[in-house]
Amino acid sequence: MRVIVAQTRETALKAQKAHKASPVAAAALGRLLTAAALLAADFKDSALVRIEVNGKGPIGRVVAEARTNGRLRAKVENPQVSLPLRSDGKLAVGHAVGNNGLFKVTREEHNGLIYQGQVELVNGEIGQDFAQYYTLSEQIPSAVALGVLVGRDSWVQAAGGMVVQALPGSSTYVVDGIADRFSRLEHISHRLAEGDSLEQLAEEVVGTHLDWFSPESLSYHCECNRSRSLELLASLPREEIHELTKDQGVEVVCHYCRTAYRFSPDEVERLLDRAAD
Ligand SMILES: [Zn+2]
Repeated sequence: MRVIVAQTRETALKAQKAHKASPVAAAALGRLLTAAALLAADFKDSALVRIEVNGKGPIGRVVAEARTNGRLRAKVENPQVSLPLRSDGKLAVGHAVGNNGLFKVTREEHNGLIYQGQVELVNGEIGQDFAQYYTLSEQIPSAVALGVLVGRDSWVQAAGGMVVQALPGSSTYVVDGIADRFSRLEHISHRLAEGDSLEQLAEEVVGTHLDWFSPESLSYHCECNRSRSLELLASLPREEIHELTKDQGVEVVCHYCRTAYRFSPDEVERLLDRAAD
């Protein structure tokens, strides 16, 4: 078997701060970021892994991207949506995301090849949806646990996840045993908040000592910058640019990190001149 774990507290907290996200939106962002990190660690040839979830729930579309070097970023349509807790006291991530739609994965390899796969959402909780994607689309029987704990102060306190995969040739007995122990693993995020390590939790689930490869670091990092934002602006139809910028210039806001880039009427004028040339 093969086990991958991702410790994502810092990343999930940065995403929450960037988007000023409510607890339930922060949990959705954190879980999807964790899924992207796990997938990127699994597919080493990928330069970019992008997961998009649109379940038609109140928070809207959620997207997470993982790039080489553990660089992660995410966006969500309605980060301020807040919902009552479920009856078991957990955040209502499934409700917020919705389950009427797809879990879509795009992997871009270093050689430029692009792979896409998608499955129907199971419940919008992201963990089971991700497991379903692995099993159906990548055809690797997998058990997945993703968890984000939001503290009483409304900030992300713990986040992480793991994937356990049966490799070809493993007996169904072993796989079923792991699935069973997985279902009994109590809230992964609580265990992380209590100070347990993911390595410890994984060994508990698998029931044996594991040999770990050296870890790689993850960070919340957005690729946007001023000149890319200007290029984006330039891609709009000319009349639209005129309309947007005629009086005081324009502000382009990145959906992944919420950085705002301001362009003066002069800068836009020069852009339009260049486009005309
Ligand atoms: Zn950005």
